[in-house]
Amino acid sequence: MKKTDKYTVVIQGWDLMSYFSDTRDVCWFLEPELANAIKALHGAIGNAVTEERYIVVGTGSSQLCQAALFALSSLSEVQPVNIVAAVPFYSTYVEEASYLQSNLYKWEGDARTFDKKGPYIEMVTSPNNPEGTMREPVVNRTEGGKVIHDFAYYWPHYTPITRREDHDLMLFTFSKITGHAGSRIGWALVKDIEVAKKMVHYLTINSIGVSKESQTRATTILNELTKTCRNKSESFFEYGYEKMKSRWERLREIVESGDTFTLPNYPQAFCNFFGKTISTTPAFAWLGCKEERDLGSLLKEKNVLARGGDRFGSDKKYVRISMLSRDHDFHVFLQRLATIKDLK
Ligand code: PMP
Repeated sequence: MKKTDKYTVVIQGWDLMSYFSDTRDVCWFLEPELANAIKALHGAIGNAVTEERYIVVGTGSSQLCQAALFALSSLSEVQPVNIVAAVPFYSTYVEEASYLQSNLYKWEGDARTFDKKGPYIEMVTSPNNPEGTMREPVVNRTEGGKVIHDFAYYWPHYTPITRREDHDLMLFTFSKITGHAGSRIGWALVKDIEVAKKMVHYLTINSIGVSKESQTRATTILNELTKTCRNKSESFFEYGYEKMKSRWERLREIVESGDTFTLPNYPQAFCNFFGKTISTTPAFAWLGCKEERDLGSLLKEKNVLARGGDRFGSDKKYVRISMLSRDHDFHVFLQRLATIKDLK
């Protein structure tokens, strides 16, 4: 709200009417300015390699995740391809991998207990949703495996940036950088042109590309983030980090003052972007209950809504709490949590 001018986008009524953006690009509906803005931001933050990569834009990274499942499995010689993720995993992967009942792939659940023969795709979310830990693949096989790295939260306001990630298929989203989830803009950085082409094929059938208005708005905002990221008083990432840090401190204070709840502890690490050692301040809190109780239902009785741990392939004694609500809502949440001393 304070930064109205530079982040405002005006689009003429006659502009951006075509399906096409750049017919020479593998991703022909990607606006070249957005591609440049994405590369510039990753370059400035130092969180991912964009050189020698194809950028595929999607209607959120949700669409790209499905495009990637389609691409990797349709290029596999054996189908259906097993899809796995280590528990606790982002609950939407289950739906994304199951709801079409595709013959190309099949949701197989926890990657740690996966022992089926044949090709597989492992979803690796780092930092992880729901519990904020940095993750690596866990299925340890020399062949037959592909990995989709979901880096939705690999930004300095959530976690120390320790290296430029350099994997075959990496997903990012505008939604979790600034919170512009409604623009529905995500992107994939893809090494293999055949995989990129198949993803574009999926997107072509699914939605014939991605809204140009959204791409234009994302371009303006991402460029502004890049331009200001080294200016302490202007940087969105400085602001975001301070906001997350103070919310986590307040939450920990309440949790530690009682004997009811648990929270994960995160190791500190040197953040290449901030140039100092910081701790992880994830977008979600993985709140646990010291007793064996259904924490989601208990909190609901106290007017606190959270997604239950069972939705993430884990236990009902855990819930996932969003740390990204508006200040007022977060404050009310803390107030309610502070009143819950005894879960009877
Ligand atoms: N991946 C992860 C790990 C997420 O948490 C989310 C949003 N909750 C997404 C992908 C999807 O984001 P979007 O479709 O808005 O880009």
